[in-house]
Amino acid sequence: MIAGVLVFLGTAAPALADDPPTPPRAVAAPRGIPATPSGGSYEQLISFAKDTARDLGAMQQQARDVAAERNDAFAQISTLSALTGKPSAVRDRLEREALRLSATTKTPSAATVSPATREAADEMRSLRVELKEQYVELQAEAVALAPYAVIAPPNGAWMTPAEGELTQGFGRTTYRGEPSGVYGGVYYSHFHEGIDIGAEMYSPVVAAAPGRVVWVGHLPDGAMVVLIAHIGGLVSLYAHLDDGIAPPRVAAGDEVQQGQIIAAIGMTGMTTGPHLHFAVWRDGELIDPESLLAH
Ligand SMILES: [Zn+2]
Repeated sequence: MIAGVLVFLGTAAPALADDPPTPPRAVAAPRGIPATPSGGSYEQLISFAKDTARDLGAMQQQARDVAAERNDAFAQISTLSALTGKPSAVRDRLEREALRLSATTKTPSAATVSPATREAADEMRSLRVELKEQYVELQAEAVALAPYAVIAPPNGAWMTPAEGELTQGFGRTTYRGEPSGVYGGVYYSHFHEGIDIGAEMYSPVVAAAPGRVVWVGHLPDGAMVVLIAHIGGLVSLYAHLDDGIAPPRVAAGDEVQQGQIIAAIGMTGMTTGPHLHFAVWRDGELIDPESLLAH
């Protein structure tokens, strides 16, 4: 029995103006990725999610790089602090600096030691201030990027996002309620974009893999959905979620772990019974979600 239908898929993309995207949380998204799309059609939303998924890999690398730079700056500050904390070491260093300077100025060393020493001391002080500024900047950047550093790539299989019976598989169907679709270059008059899992009302829906929530809201047919971008150019959609007593627990911009409860089974949108419609894209192309799930 077919439960879920997302009829809007076959229609001209209506605007989502009535239902603005969930505003991002207080934490500003790091450079590169806006927390939410500015609105638009379903296709634009999926496309945005695709771009986010692609960018996640780059962000993760950036997070690692910044953390390494910050640690390097911190190590330099520590070295300088240790140096300035030891009078003899400072004197040694200043004397070396003085000698170096006197050698380059080609003036009698006795006359240049004093100004050279001052100069060397000033140099060290400004170097330390510079390093501290650099560290503060890098630390702020590392904090902003921290969420990306913890998104593990989906090494293993994805989790089934809801406990229940598979009521409809992915792909070509004879059910006329399903819109048409093109898959693998072939046109199908009725195509199911995901899988349906029949489950009890309000039972938990979990993130199938770690990722970043891209959008939470109602599609034009009324279905409450959560859209998540994952490393590897993957995007997952969870639809027909409850929006009454158990609305989604996540917001756009949130990082989610695999198995984290994101919402509850509901009956929003066009559906004859409580179930989850679960769809997955890779690089913007629909794939069979079951190919990622552990069995
Ligand atoms: Zn479905």
